[in-house]
Amino acid sequence: MINYIEPLFRPPSEWKSLILQVTNGCSWNRCHFCDMYTAPQKQFRAQKIDKIAEDIQRVAQRNLSISRVFLADGDAMSLPFNRLEAICLLIREHLPQVTRISSYCLPRNLNNKTDAQLARLRELGLSLLYVGCESGDDEVLARIEKGETFDSSLLALQRIRAAGMKSSVMILNGLGGVELSRQHALNSARLMNEAQPDYLSTLVVTLPLGKARMDAGFDGDFKLPDQHGLLSEMQLLLGELELEKTIFRSDHASNYLALKGILGRDKQSLLTQVEQAIQGLVPLRQEWQRGL
Ligand code: SF4
Repeated sequence: MINYIEPLFRPPSEWKSLILQVTNGCSWNRCHFCDMYTAPQKQFRAQKIDKIAEDIQRVAQRNLSISRVFLADGDAMSLPFNRLEAICLLIREHLPQVTRISSYCLPRNLNNKTDAQLARLRELGLSLLYVGCESGDDEVLARIEKGETFDSSLLALQRIRAAGMKSSVMILNGLGGVELSRQHALNSARLMNEAQPDYLSTLVVTLPLGKARMDAGFDGDFKLPDQHGLLSEMQLLLGELELEKTIFRSDHASNYLALKGILGRDKQSLLTQVEQAIQGLVPLRQEWQRGL
């Protein structure tokens, strides 16, 4: 139905959505832990609007019951406002039953849109943005070359909320290595407390193609915390979180311990589960079960 440039990635919760590839690859593509868009065919470029219109019309002709659209690839918000508005209008025209449009989002590409532009996109259905903050710690963010800071991430999350959109934040467990684990947890919690995102998920850093790029920011030797270190970091993060109503998930395959709940309501129960895991009282995912 749609010819994608593979590989294609989407958040797990978008499994029922139409994936519309409005860009190929990632406009930044420099984060040291990320190998998602490093294949030669994934070099960044915006898709032509004619191709996007064709894809939407082809889907519309099938009369499928599609209510959600995810704009791929790595950061559709890198497109200028006019292009995003045109895409949303095409979706509205040809797929009027769609109630939610979502996308990954780098803070800087949100922050370069005006409040009025964000409100217009919200009006046209763009209502959920996935923000890979990764960390709230400026030193960690600099070492992995995220190109963002605590302040830029917070501003983007506040502006998403002000525009009436929802935010879903990813934090990477272990991203500061052994060396920066504590400040990574504390400042990530501080960022979340100030931003109060609608959704928060944590994933364990995985480096399937090796750790050479991570080594570059860690004096030549990035040391991922062991299982105990990762759980202790989660314990610190969760203990510091003061969230009012955030849906929390730590159930991605990369995690040794699957957790889910609503924060703050379930904070104590989540902390108890982590403490039990640290004490070896609950089974953890084995390496082969992590499906990486
Ligand atoms: S911005 Fe996202 S997709 Fe792009 S390199 Fe960083 S983590 Fe990967």
